[in-house]
Amino acid sequence: MPITDIAKKQLAQKHRLFYKICRDCGVRNPASAYRCRKCRGGNLRWKKRELGAK
Ligand SMILES: [Zn+2]
Repeated sequence: MPITDIAKKQLAQKHRLFYKICRDCGVRNPASAYRCRKCRGGNLRWKKRELGAK
């Protein structure tokens, strides 16, 4: 069942494409993360991809 709501689709893409990577253990964290959820380190970097590229 395709998603017809554009706003919801954009929101889903944003959550799928924008997240943070821990430089210490490499685990993926949510964009709102302040510290790594695994090692609790603050050494996070942004993972960003261009929207539209599947
Ligand atoms: Zn970590």
